[in-house]
Order: sequence, then C-alpha cells, then structure tokens
Amino acid sequence: MLKKHMKKIKKTAKSITKKRAEVSVKKIIQEEKRPIPAALSEEEEQLIVKGPKGKLPSLLRGMKDVLPKDWPHWKKIYHTAEGIAEAYGFGYLETPVLEEASLFIRSIGRGTDIIDKEMYVFEDRDGTRVGMRPEFTAGAVRAYISHGMHTLPQPVKLWSFGQLFRHDRPQAGRYRQLHQFNCESFGAHDPAVDAELIVVAYNFLRDLGIETTVQMNSIGTPEDRQNYLVELTGYLRIKRSYLCEDCKKRITRNPLRALDCKNESCRPTLEEAPQIVDWLSEASKNYFMKVLEFLDELEAPYTLKPTLVRGLDYYTETVFEIYEDSVVEGQQSALCGGGRYDLLVGELGGPPTPACGFALGVERVMTILRRKAEENKDKVEKPVGGVFFAHLGEQARRRTLKMIEDLRRDGVVLHHSLGKTALKAQLELADKFGVAYTLILGQKEVQDGTIIIRDMESGIQEIVDQKKLKSELEKKTRV
Ligand code: AMP
Repeated sequence: MLKKHMKKIKKTAKSITKKRAEVSVKKIIQEEKRPIPAALSEEEEQLIVKGPKGKLPSLLRGMKDVLPKDWPHWKKIYHTAEGIAEAYGFGYLETPVLEEASLFIRSIGRGTDIIDKEMYVFEDRDGTRVGMRPEFTAGAVRAYISHGMHTLPQPVKLWSFGQLFRHDRPQAGRYRQLHQFNCESFGAHDPAVDAELIVVAYNFLRDLGIETTVQMNSIGTPEDRQNYLVELTGYLRIKRSYLCEDCKKRITRNPLRALDCKNESCRPTLEEAPQIVDWLSEASKNYFMKVLEFLDELEAPYTLKPTLVRGLDYYTETVFEIYEDSVVEGQQSALCGGGRYDLLVGELGGPPTPACGFALGVERVMTILRRKAEENKDKVEKPVGGVFFAHLGEQARRRTLKMIEDLRRDGVVLHHSLGKTALKAQLELADKFGVAYTLILGQKEVQDGTIIIRDMESGIQEIVDQKKLKSELEKKTRV
C-alpha cells in the first residue's frame, strides 16, 4: 500500500518538475527572441549576447564617482547647506533631472553656452524632446508656477541640492555631471532679498572655512539695456579683429554675452568696453545702491565688477559671483553665481513675479576642502567613531547578526566582518576602521549571556552582561 503511494507521489513530482522545466525553457526561448532595445549599438549587442566578459565600459568623460573617502566632505557640505538654508527659512525643493527641453531653452536662452553647446537633449521614447537639467532655476520656476506657489505668503524661498548635466569641455573644476547648492526667492522685488541671498551663499562658504569676496554688478532692466546694447554692439564691431571667434558671433547673436567671455585674449578689449552701470535708470541705480548698503551692513566683503553680466538671458538688475580670496587673480573660477530675474516667471506663463537666486558649485567647494585638509594634515577621511563587532566560533557567528541588528536599532554605528573567522584578522580590520572599541562574542559569552568590550587603544578588555551592553557603550562613547 505504502509502496503504491510512494510511486504515485514520485510520478506527480516528476510531472511537476517536467512542467516547470518546460515553462522555464519556454521563458528562456521567449527572452532570447525578445529584441534587444534599439538604442544599443552593434558592439553592445555583441557584448550582451557574449555575456558580461567584455571590455569594462569606461567612466564617461567629465563624470566622477563619489567615493567613500570623499563622503565626509560631501556630508559636511550638504549639512552646512541644509543648516543655513533652513535657518534662513528656505524650504527644500527637488525637481526632476529630466524636464521638457523647451523649459531650459526658453529660460536660459539661445546664444548661451549652456543651451547652444552644453545641454544634454534627446528624444524620449514617446517622442518628447527632453533636456537633462543644466541648472536649477528653470525647474524651480516651473515648480513655482505649476504648484500655484504664488498663492502662498511671499517671498517663497526654496533651496535645492543635486546633480546637473552640462556637456562642457572637461577640465579642472569643470565637469559634465556637477552638483550645486541652489537657493531661490520668489515674490519680492526688494534689495534686502538680494542681499539676504548673497549673505546666505557667503556665510555658507565662511562656515566651511572658505574666505571669499563677492563681485557685484547691475545689468538693469531690459529697457535700461536697449540703448546700452546699441553702444556695446558698435564698440564690439569696431574692435572685431581683437575678439575670439565666439565673441565675433556674439556681436550679432548676444553681445552682452561677449562681456562674460573667458578667453584671455579678449579680456583687454572687453575691459575697455562701455560699462552698463553708466546706462542704468535712476530706479535701477538706486536699487543697486540699496543692495550694496545692505551688504555693508551685513559686513559681507564685495567689489564692483562692471564686466560681470552672467551671460544668461533671464537676469535683470543685480548680478553677482563669489570667488575664493586666496586664489591668484585671473586664475580663479567662481564658486557661486546668481542674480535677480524679475521677468522669467511671467515669461514662462506664471503671474508676473520678481525673483532672485544663486547657484553654488559643490565640486569646487570640495576641491578647496580637500586642499585645506591636505594643508592642515587634517585627514578627515578616516571613519570616525563606531564600534567593531568580532565573533569567535560558529555559535557566536549565528548570534552576531541578531545582536548587530539590535545595536543598530539603538543607534550604535557598527562595523563587522562575518566572513572572517580568525579573531586576529577581525581585530586588524577593527584597527583599520579606526574604532575605539571592539565587541568580542565567543562561545562562552553566548552561553553566559555576556560580551567582551575591548578598548582598542589600551587593549584592556572587560566582560559585561549583554543586557547592559547598550548603556555601557553609551557611557564609554559619551564625550
Ligand atoms: P552657473 O550655474 O553656471 O552660474 O554656475 C554656478 C556655479 O556652479 C559656478 O560658480 C561653479 O562653482 C559651478 N559650476 C558651473 N559649471 C560647472 C561645471 N561644469 N563643473 C563644475 N562646477 C560648475
């Protein structure tokens, strides 16, 4: 009877296995038939067919990995940004990396490097032309309008932190994936707002130990600029032969942008150019003076820079850039740039709303922090704090995971290596992590309900009850 039963069970099991095998074979055949996405090149298709043993795709030019050793600096930059933005009443805004390309083209404007040469634009699978955000302002304006933020008490102050993409020529301080700390203030045409933003950026850098100076200019309203542009274009035409090829094109396309040219050969000519401050209306001049008075009051050091125009279409009146003090004049790149853009919200379809903002380059700040750490031999890279959990024997290894989980939930930062069995190897690793204490759990401790706490500096070990471990660690790690 039993034999008959067993036979039946075996037969059923065999048929289930057979059916399952048939299903998986069918699935594999289907998957093999599935066309490889059209966007892949022939070479990539070959790599997929042949398996993963091909050439390792290299890191794209201008892109960088953020490695664990860099993370302490990144964390410091992010937390300083968060602290200062929140202290000044900015709310966090996260906009998507992808937006309709037209948002950026309409905001930033044709004739700018960002739009003409640098923005990553492509057709999405549904045919939409999308752009990877090259800056934050356009997205922030879109969000302000689409979420009806004009109905909130003004000014609406927003900060963002994240990646941007520009197909720039990679060089020191210039990447194709860059990060910015960005602040925008919508809804107030008030010199105090411009000054507040400048001071947020200035204080952020000062809190990170970076001494800077703000360069200031006003480019007035579009009406102020009309006559000035005639004058400037005339001047550039006369001096055409002294200008670079890009600036020659800018004479007709965007003459103001020529003033912002980074080409050294153009500098002397541009420095002699008519200055926009001489063409400002009384109202724009007064506005600018008030911004400067606020900066005096706030003790933020600044200089006036008549050729500073920021190059983008949307700026009106105040424009500024921030530079590190200790870098030789002429060799430096700006850490931060910003200005007022009173017309952009209206131009993008929102209610007329004055606005002002800045963008601060995280990679450039990182470079300075790394340099300073190097100068001070103050290596921040070493992980600070934390406890290492070492185990001895199979029984202890099994118990370790549960204990680690409990400690983690209690907020203890833990390192461990369950793969290593020798205590010596585990203690060596604990040393490399730079922890102050290592917990050692052996077979005896598992049975007794105890654990050893080893002081890594003195080597002194003490046995404590597992139930008291948390409070013991708190006592030891309290400063
Ligand atoms: P912008 O948005 O061009 O006004 O730039 C604002 C700040 O972002 C600059 O002052 C730089 O600190 C930083 N930045 C701009 N372009 C790049 C880039 N390609 N790579 C790294 N940082 C950049």
